[in-house]
Amino acid sequence: MSEDAAAAPEPTVVADGITEIARAVWVIPDRRVPLVPNIGVIAGNDTVLVVDTAMGPANGRRVLNTAKEKAQGRPLQLTITHFHPEHGFGAQAFRNEATIVYNRAQRDELHDKGAGYVELFRTFGPAVAAALEGVELVDPDEVYDGETTELDLGGRTVQLRTWGVAHTRSDQVVYLPEERILFAGDLVEERIFPIYPYFPPDDADVDGHRWIDVLRRLEELEPAVVVPGHGAVGDVRLIVAAREFHELLRDETLRLAAEGVDVEQVVARLEPEFLARHPDWEQPEWIGFGIRSFYARSQD
Ligand SMILES: [Zn+2]
Repeated sequence: MSEDAAAAPEPTVVADGITEIARAVWVIPDRRVPLVPNIGVIAGNDTVLVVDTAMGPANGRRVLNTAKEKAQGRPLQLTITHFHPEHGFGAQAFRNEATIVYNRAQRDELHDKGAGYVELFRTFGPAVAAALEGVELVDPDEVYDGETTELDLGGRTVQLRTWGVAHTRSDQVVYLPEERILFAGDLVEERIFPIYPYFPPDDADVDGHRWIDVLRRLEELEPAVVVPGHGAVGDVRLIVAAREFHELLRDETLRLAAEGVDVEQVVARLEPEFLARHPDWEQPEWIGFGIRSFYARSQD
């Protein structure tokens, strides 16, 4: 990881910033703090759905308390966009407080990798380690199979949709078909280079090829509002920008790999080019992770 990550600031959710982006749909913004995600609270007449918890028990409690304020006694449901710690490792605060729903592959991926990711994230500096103090990984109360399930919140239907491997093995988006609002998780970021969690041998599941396919599916939904995993809320142009980045990264990496250029040389040559294309995007360390991921797959 980068030196930036090693000196990561406190990954704390600040619920005061909660913003209503549509009627009874709120986002607790990430304030562009690394390892804090955008969090969704979606209210129906009967139940209230929370999307992601941020990392660690204290953040989970902050999100829970905010959701309870919005719910005003209505029961809560919780879903997580993917198993990564900064998105879901506050879920323990919701145990016995909400019905927790994941797709089956996400539950399995959490079982396979969750403990290892806690150890990995603890190396990211004292602020991150402190946030993870006392973390417990909790199972969902319900899982669904296949590409989609619908939650009826009462007067409002929400779709949970997954297309398998992309940023992780089991990314899930939350889609409100009537308002065409998409909570994209880390499939889409705003002004942040796409996050390739390519950490072989522990985790090499990220698949840029399939990620591009998934982004096309998300574009086909024609969302009016896109809530990225990190960064400011935007529209479908966030998805297009991400897809175009991945496609060019793929094409350039595969071209140089086919010429027999060594992977470290590919990184050294391409990183400055992509930085120059996106001078205002953050977390440039992920460019190299993305190149290494595409390169490794080209050698299979
Ligand atoms: Zn992630």
